[in-house]
Amino acid sequence: MKSMQVPFFRPSIGEAEIAAVSECLRSGWLTTGPKAQAFEADFADYIGGGVSALAVNSATAALHLGLEALGVGPGCEVIVPTLTFTATAEVVRYLGADPVLVDIDPATLCLDAETVAQAITPRSKVIMPVHFAGRACDMTALRALADANGLSILDDAAHALPTRHQGQLIGQCGADATAFSFYANKTMTTGEGGMLVTANPEIAARARTMRLHGIDRDVFNRFTNTRASWIYDVVAPGYKYNMTDVAAAMGLVQLGRCDDFGATRAALVARYNDAFADLPLILPPGPAAGDEHSWHLYILQLPQTAPLSRDAFIAALKDAEIGTSVHYRPLHQMTFWKDFCAGRSFPHADAYFARCVSLPLFMAMTPEEQDHVIATVRRVLSC
Ligand SMILES: *Cc1c(COP(=O)(O)O)cnc(C)c1O
Repeated sequence: MKSMQVPFFRPSIGEAEIAAVSECLRSGWLTTGPKAQAFEADFADYIGGGVSALAVNSATAALHLGLEALGVGPGCEVIVPTLTFTATAEVVRYLGADPVLVDIDPATLCLDAETVAQAITPRSKVIMPVHFAGRACDMTALRALADANGLSILDDAAHALPTRHQGQLIGQCGADATAFSFYANKTMTTGEGGMLVTANPEIAARARTMRLHGIDRDVFNRFTNTRASWIYDVVAPGYKYNMTDVAAAMGLVQLGRCDDFGATRAALVARYNDAFADLPLILPPGPAAGDEHSWHLYILQLPQTAPLSRDAFIAALKDAEIGTSVHYRPLHQMTFWKDFCAGRSFPHADAYFARCVSLPLFMAMTPEEQDHVIATVRRVLSC
C-alpha cells in the first residue's frame, strides 16, 4: 500500500464559505462594501475592548499602515525580532526608517524586554513584537518598557489569532495597534487579507484614510454640507490596501469558526506533545501561565543528542510523504538585511534556525494523518 500523504497545510474551507462567496459574486458588489464593513464590525466585536478594525488586503498592508499612522519615517528606528517573516521588517523600509533587529529569547522564541531595552536609542520609535508561532510575547513587560521610553508598540499578530495574554486577546493587549493576517495558511483565511486593530481613534482615522488613496470624506465634510459620493478630498498620497467583499464574505464565515479551529489545533498539539515526550527533541514552548497559545505552528527543535540533523529529519519525513516547513531563516542571515546588522550577533536565533522544523498542524488534519506523522517521527528518531 502506498503510504499516505500529509501536506504541511490544508485550508478548511466549507460549504458555508463557498455559499458566502457565491452570494457575494451574485450580488454584483465585488469590491469593498457591505461585507467588508460587516467583517470589520464582527472582528472588532471578537477582539473586544471597543477596538476599531480595518480590513485590508494583507497583514503586510496592515503593518505598513500601522507604522505610518504611528509617525514612523526617515531617521526613526523600529525594533524587530530577527526571527520573523521579512514582511515585519520590510514595512519599516517602506517608510524610509531603519529596522533594528534583535535576538530572541530561546525559551519563548519571542522578543524579551531585556533584549529590547538594550536596543533602544534616542532614534527608537516603535517596538514590533511577533507572537511567534502563536505564543504571546510578554506584553506587560514590553508595554512598561515602551512607556518608560516614550515608544509605541505595533504587534505583528500574523500568528496570533486567537492568542491571549493574561486573559486578553492579542489586539487589545498593550499594543497601540495590531496587525492580523488572513493569508491562505494562517489560523483563518480570506485567501489574502489582513486586519489592523487599534483602540486609538487617531491611528484608526489615519489608517482608514491611507488605506484607500488618502481619500478623506470626513475632512471634506467638515467644510461642506454636501454628502454626494462624488465629492471627496485627497489629503495624502495614500495606498491601495482595501479588502474586497469577496474576501470579506469568506472572512465572516471563517471568523465564526476561529475558536473551533483553535480548539482543534490545541488538541492536535496535545497529542503531538504526548507522543513525542520521550524522544530526543525540544518541544515547542507552551504559553506563559495565564496566557493562551493560538498554535498556528508546531515547531520541534532537534538537539545535539538527536540521531540525525534537522535537514536529514526533513528528508526522512519527505520520504514518508509528510510536508514540513522551516520558520524562519532569521532575517540577519538574509542578503538584504545583513547590511542592517553590521557587527552584531544573534546566537539564539542562529542556534534555533539550525535545528528547527515545523510539522503539519491544521484544523482539517485527520487522526490518520496525525498518526502517520507521529509514527514517522518516532521511527526516524529512534534509529
Ligand atoms: C504571514 C506573515 C506576515 C505577512 O502576512 P500577509 O498577510 O501575507 O501580508 C507577516 N508577519 C508574519 C510573522 C507572518 O507569518
